[in-house]
Amino acid sequence: MPDNIRNVIIIGSGCSGLTAAIYAARANLTPLVIDGHEPGGQLSMTTLVENFPGFPDGIQGPELIDNMRMQATRFGTEFLAGHVAGVDLSRKAADGSRKPIEVNLGRDKLLTRTLIIASGASARWLGLPNEQALIGHGVSSCATCDGFFFSGKEIAVIGGGDSAMEEALFLTRFASKVTLIHRRGEFRASKIMLDRARKHDKIAFLCDTVVDDVLDVSKKEVTGLRLRNLKTGEQWDMPTSAMFLGIGHTPNAQFVGDQLARDGEGYLIPEGYVCSRAPGVFISGDVADRHYRQAVTAAGTGCMAALEAEKYLEEIGK
Ligand code: NAP
Repeated sequence: MPDNIRNVIIIGSGCSGLTAAIYAARANLTPLVIDGHEPGGQLSMTTLVENFPGFPDGIQGPELIDNMRMQATRFGTEFLAGHVAGVDLSRKAADGSRKPIEVNLGRDKLLTRTLIIASGASARWLGLPNEQALIGHGVSSCATCDGFFFSGKEIAVIGGGDSAMEEALFLTRFASKVTLIHRRGEFRASKIMLDRARKHDKIAFLCDTVVDDVLDVSKKEVTGLRLRNLKTGEQWDMPTSAMFLGIGHTPNAQFVGDQLARDGEGYLIPEGYVCSRAPGVFISGDVADRHYRQAVTAAGTGCMAALEAEKYLEEIGK
């Protein structure tokens, strides 16, 4: 860039960010994608994706995301490994005119005319006393990353949504038994996923039950879970070698602070579909979606954000 100001910076390299990159790159805007902590986002940590149109037999999540990355690269997208510490969305010159948006990477600061925030959402933890100390020693939020380590062992999965069902089903490849622990008797999971899990002979269900703590921090590995039945109040210890969490996600929007509208859980609230109250700043994917959270919806809003960025650049004469 001759003036060191980018046309488009995209924060996040998941399905939404990469779709935005494909569109912006094909418009000759040479977008820069900042990878973030989890390059590839949630798709890179999932297994078979059966509901992304165009793949009648399904496609592995990491393969889908690799394809998108190659597609974005082919049209001139640039990538930067880094994590955004903050953004300044409303810089003004002394005469009151608008200055480019600043993206703070800690050691470096980048300037851009438009910014697409596609930073996604990250797995949630339960917040138990021993949980963090046992991450990597039997506590995990990524079945595809860590399931392999528990071959022939008993595993617990927490949650009652599609993520928990998907994790439980995947983990049956390794585990001798998977116990799915859910705090209610009703499930958010789609019927097809719930039925598959229910029919699987390696999966047992434990409903109306919460985890009070993970055992045993003194042994530096998971040996069991302290459980409590919410209806009876009964507490007991269940031996298990691992606890996998599938309890939903938290949006990655901390770096925005209060510069954009956010809901009670921190999700960004777009104006219309993907616009924001800050000129030149667009929002796409799971960071603004507490409802649908599908790969295809993330891709769709990524496309919209790139088209809006292109239109904005035209309007300001760039
Ligand atoms: P979700 O649907 O919000 O489900 C989260 C589950 O975790 C709920 O059952 C919830 O219990 C439980 N939970 C949340 N906080 C908890 C806590 N502190 N303690 C105990 N349990 C807790 O999230 P998700 O399963 O990640 O799914 C999100 C979206 O992605 C959905 O739209 C889903 O369809 C989609 N998804 C699709 C696929 C697929 O199609 N292959 C795979 C994964 C995800 P309550 O029900 O009691 O609130």
